[in-house]
This record gives sequence, structure tokens and C-alpha cells, in this order.
Amino acid sequence: MIMTPRQMFFSHVAQTSFAPLNIEVVKAKGVYLYGPDGEKYIDTVSGISVANVGHCHPKVVEAVKEQAEKYMHLMVYGEYIEYPQVMLAKKMTDLLPPSLNQVYFVNSGGEATDGAIKLAKRYTHRPEVVAFRDAYHGSTIGATSVWGDEYFKSAYRPLMPGVKILRFNNFDDLSQITENTACVITEAIQSEGGLNIPENGWLGALRERCTQTGTLLIIDEVQMGWGRTGKWFGFENFGIVPDIVTFAKGLGGGMPIGAFVSDKKIMEVFCDNPILGHITTFGGHPVCTAAALANINVIEQEHLVDTATQKGDYFASLIEKHPRVIRTWGLGLFRGIEVEYSIDMSNFWHKTINNGIVSDTFIFRQHAFRFTPPLTITNSEIEEAVEGLMKTLDEM
Ligand code: PMP
Repeated sequence: MIMTPRQMFFSHVAQTSFAPLNIEVVKAKGVYLYGPDGEKYIDTVSGISVANVGHCHPKVVEAVKEQAEKYMHLMVYGEYIEYPQVMLAKKMTDLLPPSLNQVYFVNSGGEATDGAIKLAKRYTHRPEVVAFRDAYHGSTIGATSVWGDEYFKSAYRPLMPGVKILRFNNFDDLSQITENTACVITEAIQSEGGLNIPENGWLGALRERCTQTGTLLIIDEVQMGWGRTGKWFGFENFGIVPDIVTFAKGLGGGMPIGAFVSDKKIMEVFCDNPILGHITTFGGHPVCTAAALANINVIEQEHLVDTATQKGDYFASLIEKHPRVIRTWGLGLFRGIEVEYSIDMSNFWHKTINNGIVSDTFIFRQHAFRFTPPLTITNSEIEEAVEGLMKTLDEM
């Protein structure tokens, strides 16, 4: 029996829910996805904050092709001097504050979370890890352990011990970070948590408490990094510098790559007693690092960091005109849209698909959806997206 791609997807590709988005894509370019029968969708999600430079940016595609022809995987991470990898590490650390000067390359955000936590435990010799309610940092066992919600993690216990979950934006809870705490992990702005922005200097107070107690502060920039918030990095909006920062998603320009970055004096604990403190076969893959370098250069050359806020404001000014929109909030091109509580949002993203829009809600916030399109989106593409989103709101 000949199966259609959709039948093969449901029969042979493991599923993550009973209601996947279920669209077929044969081509993607810029902010658009194309289906096999001429369908065209505008992507207001960027594959969850991945396609910051749009899909298949020609400079990224060229870098991938060029590097694939020179060499692909040669050796496990950390042994050979591979030019795309060293050039990318240099570029990343040039953009980061001086104390974030060594990059450990992995393959995904979850791996970056695990690597960063291991590094903090190893460096501080402390047992405890602090994370926050409604946080998501990946699906590996380490990252699942710091997931800020029991519903998602209780089935996998026992998890990593010694995890304390505190309240994001809560000053009182900061006293629970002590000399026993190896690290605190958080995003500067919680993404899946519902686009929660720190208030009244809370992130600064968290930084201060970590410094006081000798705890390493890990900031997860997996969604907020690489221009998304109108700054290169989300933490820059709050005047703090983390001890370790993690990246994935928007770093690779569409290729899989993750990284955690710290100071050389912290990072070098992985080298000794025992050596090989953290190892990976594919971390820093030449094709992925070449793509990531091209991606960062595009962000820079096309001024995508500088224009994100103006584009986000333009979007907000348009969508706020819809009578069922209560408010919008956010930074750069990471905007949340809160809608009337009478609207059932459970099928929102399936409904926008019918109007040619890929959209997304938040794991931990009801009655809202996000607008996180490629940073390359133009004003007329924003208008087109708003039209489809408004049409969907009319129909709900
Ligand atoms: N951190 C954050 C904030 C994320 O949103 C995600 C993925 N959604 C991750 C970490 C994990 O990244 P990955 O899926 O690449 O493991």
C-alpha cells in the first residue's frame, strides 16, 4: 500500500501530542511556508524563536553548502581546530560581555541547560539548583528537573535531586538562594511561562543575591537571544551579566546547535580531575557552526536587532485595534496578545492555519498568543499577518 506523507507522519513518526499542527511543508522562504498544493502560510512563530533571519536565508544556505563541501564531522568536540567553530566562538564572545569568553558547543537547548548545570555544580561543589515556577529549559532529564511545573515532570521522578522551585518576580523567595546553591537558572524574560518580564529591578536583585552567596547565575537565552527582544541578548534589557549563558534555537539560523558560555576560569574545571567533564560527539558541528556564523553576520548586516522594536510596536498598534484584544505587551519582536476571556484559545493555532497563519500560544498562560516572527519581517508582511490573525479572532 502506498502511504501519503500525512499517513506516514501519523503511523511512523513518534508524536508529541494528539493534535499536531499537521500541515505539510515543501518549501520555506523568509517569513513564508509553502505546502504541496500551493498553500502559503505566514510564520509568526519562527519555529519557536528559531528563524530570526527568516527561513532559508541565502547567506546561511550558502554557508551550509560551502562547509558541507569542505568537511562535515571530523572528530568529537574539543580536539581539532575547526575554522567555522573557532570563528563562531570568537564572534559570539565579541558580542557578549568580557566575562563570557569561552563557548562550549552542544546540539540543543536542553543539552545547553544540562551542560550549564553540570558546570555550576562542578565549579561550586554545591548540591542545590534553583529554578522558577512556569520555567521551561528543555526535555533532557536535567532540564526536566528544573521545569517549573509538576504536571509536566511528576511522571519522570525521581529526577535530579536538590532542585528548589521559587516564584519568578518574587523578592521574598530570593532569600532561599544560599551558600548551598550551586546555580540559579532562569530566562531573563520567561517565554513559555507566558512572556513574564521581571519587574521593579527583580533580575538585578537576583543577580545581587547570587553574587552574595557565590551562586552562579545561568541565564537561558534560548528564545530571547540573537535580537529577539531588540537587544542582542535578553539579559541586556536589565543591566545584568550572568555567570553562564545558554543558547540554541536562533543561534543556528535554522541548523541545530546549542551552546553555553562562561568565563575561562569557570569553564576549565571540565578539563581536570576527572578530565572529559562534559563531552559531545556532534557539538560544534562544522556545518552548524558555519551556519550560525553566517546567521549572526546577517543579523548584524541587516540591522535586525535595531529594527525589532519598531516592528514589534507596529504590530502592536495594528492588532490592538481588534475589539477582542485586551492588551499587548513584550519587547522587540516577542509580543504577547491577551484576548477576551470568553475566547476558547485551545484550538487557536489550528484555526489561524485556515487563515494562512502559523501562530502559537504559551504553555503557561491562558487567553493569550505570541507574535514572534522572523526579525526580517517587513511592514507589509506584518499587515498581512495581522489581517489573518484578526480574521481568526472574528471567527472565534
Ligand atoms: N530553553 C528554552 C527557554 C526553550 O524555549 C527551549 C525549547 N523550547 C529549550 C530551552 C530547549 O531547547 P531544545 O528544544 O533545543 O532542547
